[in-house]
Parts: sequence; C-alpha cells; structure tokens
Amino acid sequence: MSKMYYEKDSSLELFKGKKVAVLGYGSQGHAHALNLKDSGVDVVVGLHEKSKSRDKVKADGLEVMNVEDAVKVSQVVMMLVPDTKQKEVFDEKVKDNLDEGDALAFAHGFNIHFSQIVPPKNVDVFMVAPKGPGHLVRRVYQDGKGVPALLAVHQDYTGKAKELGLAYSYGIGALRAGVLETTFKEETETDLFGEQAVLCGGVTELIKAGFETLVNAGYQKEVAYFECLHEMKLIVDLLYEGGFEKMRHSISDTAEYGDYMVGRRIVTDKTREEMKGVLTEIQTGAFAKDWIMENKLNRPVFNSFKQRELEHPIVEVGKELRGMMSWIKE
Ligand code: NDP
Ligand code: MG
Ligand code: MG
Repeated sequence: MSKMYYEKDSSLELFKGKKVAVLGYGSQGHAHALNLKDSGVDVVVGLHEKSKSRDKVKADGLEVMNVEDAVKVSQVVMMLVPDTKQKEVFDEKVKDNLDEGDALAFAHGFNIHFSQIVPPKNVDVFMVAPKGPGHLVRRVYQDGKGVPALLAVHQDYTGKAKELGLAYSYGIGALRAGVLETTFKEETETDLFGEQAVLCGGVTELIKAGFETLVNAGYQKEVAYFECLHEMKLIVDLLYEGGFEKMRHSISDTAEYGDYMVGRRIVTDKTREEMKGVLTEIQTGAFAKDWIMENKLNRPVFNSFKQRELEHPIVEVGKELRGMMSWIKE
C-alpha cells in the first residue's frame, strides 16, 4: 500500500513566524482559512477589490486584504480562486509579490501541470488537494476529524517543501484522516479523468440514458426519476461506506444477479476503449488546450451545453418531486 501520512508525521512548527495568504474565499478558500486559523496558524484572506465575500470574511473573524498585499505580507500563498482565473491572478497580482523562499500552494494541479502558471525558480511549490468539497473540509474539521488529501511537490527551493505541505495538511485537518503523496501530473490527470468519465460525465449520461429508455417506453417520468436518479444516492452511500461488498450485501439477490448479468452489457468493451481515448486526450494536453481556448472565447460551447441540459425533461420532474420531499435540502 502507498505511504500515508498522519498527524504523528508532522506538526505546525514550520508555521511559527509565518503568515499564510489564502487567495479566494469560496468552497475551498473559506474551509482552509478557517481551519488554519482554528489550528492557530496566522492567516490572511486575499480577495479582489469587488469581491462579494469581503463582508463574510470579516464576519468570520478573519483578516482580509487585496491579493497583492496579502501575498506581500505572507510566506505561504494558497491559490484558491477558480482554476480558470488562476493564471490571470498569478501573472498580475501574485508573481511580483513573492519573495525568495516563499511557498506557492495549490489544491489542484491543472495550472502548474499544463504550464499555465510558471512560478519563479526561487520559491517552493506544493499541492494539498482535499478529496472532498470545501463545506465538508470545514464541517468535518469542526467535528474533530479530517477529510483526506493528496500532497505533491512541484518545486523544492528551500528543501522543506514537502515538510511544509505536510504542516499545511496538519493545519487544515487533513492529517487526521490521512494524506497520500502524489505528483501534480498524477493528481491532475486522474482528477480530470474521474470527473469526465466516471463521476460527472459518466454518471449523468448513465442516468439520462436510463430515464429516457423508461420514459420512451411509456413509463411515468416520476417513476423513472425515482428509479434512475433519486435512488442513485442510496446506492452510492452504500458504496462509500463499504465498497461493492456492502452495496451487494444490502440489495436483494435479484438485484445482485441483475447487476452481474447486465452491468457489462451497459459498460462494454467499446466504453472501455472510449475511456482510454478520453485519458489520452487528457495526457496529451488536448483537453486542457481545448478548455483554455473555450474560456478565452467566453465559453460558447460550455454555455450552449449548459442551456441544453437545463431543457431536459428530467430537470422539470426533478424540481417537482424534490419540492415534495421536504427533507431534501436544496
Ligand atoms: P470557488 O469558485 O468556490 O471560489 C472562488 C473564490 O475566489 C471566491 O471567493 C471568489 O470571489 C474568488 N475569486 C474569483 N476571482 C478572483 C480574483 N480574480 N481574485 C481574487 N479572488 C477571486 O472555488 P473553489 O473553492 O471551488 O476552487 C478553488 C480551488 O480548489 C481550485 O483550484 C479547485 O480546483 C480546487 N478544489 C476545489 C474543490 C471543491 O470542493 N470545490 C475540491 C478540491 C480542490 P467572490 O467571492 O467574489 O466570488
Ligand atoms: Mg511573501
Ligand atoms: Mg476532483
């Protein structure tokens, strides 16, 4: 098994006399900043002048500055603005305000791995990527536990980059759950592949295909929604808690037999071939090039797909049904 790091492998010693700038106060930003502060680390939040989040930062008891000033007064800079804005923020506001020996940190490897951000040679560059959404990183920390994370070092100028990354993981609570070492390349490529082929693209198309098959055959769309979308969570919860074994233990034998007989007719050799193609496009940088260009053009394809998906019949029936299930929070 790969080596995992825990709290016993680190401490907050390296943060003595250091200040951390957390840039951005969104999903990850608020969680990192508040967890670090509660761990006793000196934190400042860096935001753009017109940010909607300034009042929230102050209300949460944290110091807020412009991005440039936050970088100037800090020795560790964590980039938690959206991935598509990071290059611009880095080039215009971060780069010239880093000092020799400072550390630049990320929670996802895209901009470093695909050379959108090229940091100066005289700083450390590491990644601490929590394997969970920001609100969970915060909530779990408050419960005295942690969300696991991936750690990677891209550049080790001071010779302490990995130790510092571990200390950062300590501060946000990730070492309570375990931190796994990786590279920017592995994190970026597996993250993109997972969201495209399995977690987001794969799951939504699978749900839609099932829903459409039932509705087109004359079944009620409400029943199709429950069967193909709503129940997905019940199954995924079991997978999350205990893997395939727990899920299969919990379902009926009829469901388990159908699972064995039919799964491979849905995800076929052709699907696996296509997955390999998707992975190749990620590895060669073709996907990244495409997405960077799409953003430069103000997202014409992204926006048209977004609109098209909102017009799918599953959206309307879902709204109605969820409206009747008062225990589901929006
Ligand atoms: P969000 O979109 O939730 O938050 C972005 C924050 O950045 C907001 O506070 C926003 O300000 C601020 N911001 C936007 N533009 C600028 C700018 N030009 N200058 C300064 N601040 C700006 O981002 P996420 O937390 O989702 O993502 C941050 C990083 O974390 C990404 O690298 C992502 O890949 C990574 N990550 C995210 C996960 C997640 O759970 N979402 C999971 C693991 C990694 P305002 O408040 O004004 O909008
Ligand atoms: Mg500095
Ligand atoms: Mg991901």
